[in-house]
Amino acid sequence: MSAIDGLPPLRAVLQTHDLVAKKSLGQNFLLDLNLTAKIARAAGNLAGSDVLEIGPGPGGLTRGLLAEGARRVLAIEKDPRCIPALNEIAAAYPDRLTVIEGDALEVDPLAHLRPPIKIAANLPYNVGTELLVRWLTPAVWPPFWESLTLMFQREVAERIVAQPGDRHYGRLAILAQWRAQARIVMSLPPEAFTPAPKVHSAVVHLRALPEPLYPADPKVLSRVVAAGFNQRRKMLRASLKSVAPDIEAKLEQAGIAPTERAEQVSIEQFCRLARIVAGTE
Ligand code: SAM
Repeated sequence: MSAIDGLPPLRAVLQTHDLVAKKSLGQNFLLDLNLTAKIARAAGNLAGSDVLEIGPGPGGLTRGLLAEGARRVLAIEKDPRCIPALNEIAAAYPDRLTVIEGDALEVDPLAHLRPPIKIAANLPYNVGTELLVRWLTPAVWPPFWESLTLMFQREVAERIVAQPGDRHYGRLAILAQWRAQARIVMSLPPEAFTPAPKVHSAVVHLRALPEPLYPADPKVLSRVVAAGFNQRRKMLRASLKSVAPDIEAKLEQAGIAPTERAEQVSIEQFCRLARIVAGTE
């Protein structure tokens, strides 16, 4: 039975192109087009937006993004075996899908995209986290993207949306939530993928804020947060010693008890401390 876009079902695509999943590329495919359409909808209204998709594989999510009305999709895939299958999708959606064979960590996608730009991906988790950090730390803010809709290992997703006091609260939560609104929009069991990974997954949606939640120099904030969480069991007066010689006084000025631990400190407090350390408050 053919799917809504007239293209063959994904299992048939895998067979035709002999796409046996490779562990080395973190390949766990989504073969249910209803599910990929649902993930595409979680990216918001796609009409009038270009979408950058990283790691399209056999194209399940790509088809979801196109069927949900993306103006144009730029798909960057490292595995050359997937390119013929992706080219078939491009032929079914004339002028709407551009496929680039390459490593997303190296290809600059911007030459191919027009704003507004959304990013969507079901990526290997290590690549996903590295790209997320890059997308959240551009030279200028706001970034080139409006929103990110990304599949992660559920534990990583929880680290992105965690609040002070949560077990998962740390650098990633602060990095993400300082400049974006982040929420988990979907949880997926291992069986949703072929082959099934060992862990549960979740889709996180991040919407870029027009400006960071509170003012702070990104470099100073990152230094303070890294020092605090590198020794997360220690009190801040100890873990932040390397940040400034008179850190106790600076913590008190920021309204943070020097005996507190990093996991209890809000983003607002970290930003205030970063301004005090930088000498701008
Ligand atoms: N998006 C497809 C899906 O949902 O079925 C495939 C998901 S699979 C988890 C990850 C995909 O990312 C694979 O197709 C893999 O070849 C590709 N990939 C892995 N590392 C990559 C990289 N550095 N740059 C681009 N694609 C990559």
